[in-house]
Amino acid sequence: MARIVLTADYTLMTDFRDLPLATFFSCIPTDFWQSRLAFRALAPSPPHTKGEARYAPYGLRKLEAALLRTFEREELVVAHPRHVNRFIGPETEIVGIHSMDPLGLGPVSMSFTNGGTLTPYTKACFEELCLSLPDGNRNFKVVLGGAGVWHFGFRPEEKDRLGIDHLVAGELDHVAGEIFQDIMDGTAPERIPEPLNPPRLEEIPPIVAPSMHGMVEVMRGCGRGCQFCEVTLRRLRYFSTEFIQHEASINARAGLTNAWLHSDDIFLYKVEDYKTMQPNSDAIKEIFQTVMDVKGIASGNPTHGTLSSVCADPELIADLTKILRVRSDNWIGLQSGLETGSVTLVEKVMPRKLLPFKPSEWPEVVLDSIKILNDNYWYPALTAIIGLPGETPEDAYDTCVLMDRMEKVSSNPHFIVAPLSFVPIGVLRGEDFYRPDEMIDEARFNVAYRCWKGILREIDETLWGFSKMPTIVKAIMNTIGRIGGRHVMGILERFGQRNGFKIWPPLA
Ligand code: SF4
Repeated sequence: MARIVLTADYTLMTDFRDLPLATFFSCIPTDFWQSRLAFRALAPSPPHTKGEARYAPYGLRKLEAALLRTFEREELVVAHPRHVNRFIGPETEIVGIHSMDPLGLGPVSMSFTNGGTLTPYTKACFEELCLSLPDGNRNFKVVLGGAGVWHFGFRPEEKDRLGIDHLVAGELDHVAGEIFQDIMDGTAPERIPEPLNPPRLEEIPPIVAPSMHGMVEVMRGCGRGCQFCEVTLRRLRYFSTEFIQHEASINARAGLTNAWLHSDDIFLYKVEDYKTMQPNSDAIKEIFQTVMDVKGIASGNPTHGTLSSVCADPELIADLTKILRVRSDNWIGLQSGLETGSVTLVEKVMPRKLLPFKPSEWPEVVLDSIKILNDNYWYPALTAIIGLPGETPEDAYDTCVLMDRMEKVSSNPHFIVAPLSFVPIGVLRGEDFYRPDEMIDEARFNVAYRCWKGILREIDETLWGFSKMPTIVKAIMNTIGRIGGRHVMGILERFGQRNGFKIWPPLA
């Protein structure tokens, strides 16, 4: 039993067998047997010790570290989501839940569930967790935090149905203890306002126990200013090499030999020239080298990075390839935003994403960067936004044209583009959600179709070679991937036919 029990929904606690990019599977629908089979195979139960989670999402580990400044270790536990009730007793005062996509309104879920008409695993697992907590005369308060808290602004009625007492958003490193104490004292409001000032670097404690995927945070914020992005509203801060090394050592000591270096754009680490956003290659190489020098770390990869920086400094990619010991039989992934193929839209909503290049150069930047990344055995996992405010059918077809050119960038290019439905966050908060079930037209249908066609091609051509797991597991995964991919294509094709949409490009 513990006074404070922290946990996260199952999709954030499973390691998805460490398959590259498999975390996207947390957003697949629960509605079809094919997707249920895929989830069951890909999302094993997280390891635990008597119900205590061995690894936890980085954000939850940060909260744990922050609370330990106010509370004693024995008062707090981080629990496996399906063993959480083992730790709840009369002395429990708070159950804190971390979720990224509690109601399935995130862009990936909205896209994978036809605008929320189906139920993604993120939403289903979050609901399962909330409804599994002891009911009746509760002595404890349920507090929800994490990047998905904004969902309850759109679905306020869900808060009571799921038994949530308090919602808290934003960076809490410097105020977590105070907020939890107020909740215990009964003086906190239901919606706890985001702290006016984000924490300074010295107010952010390092994690004290291992994080999922060996994740360590390199920086916070992003100065590129894309209007559809929440991250850009945060102040830029960079963690020191010592801080990053310390967190990587905690993970390495727990047996995590691969390190994910998390940022929203790794190539902005300690950037010096904000006018050009030219990467500070020495600083970037130093943090990667620092992590690779940690005893027990055998490999590493960045999480996110911008394509324009890849083009701006191809030498940096080549140097990082050597530092990270990336080879032709050991590729790494990089998540990045393609967003749109339309130069007009780029100018409107993300002109700084192109720096040091001009918006008009976006298609060439995308093509060159994919080639540079692939030449260095980096696998770009891109996202395209469908339904950006002001997007015309011509803009959507520009995205189709660009994807077509991307497939010809070399004789055997490797990348995927995941289609995301626009959700109104960042500067564009207040705009409408893009609801594909009601709003889709032939042009946007073709963007989604083209993305899925590319994903299926990659499943067929590369999944076998890129997965590192026993042959039998690999065979099962490949079979599921091929069946699942064709299932999605079948749904899309039938949907297109029903609506009279023609597949682009038209047959000659
Ligand atoms: S570059 Fe990425 S993280 Fe930065 S503002 Fe744009 S979308 Fe957000």
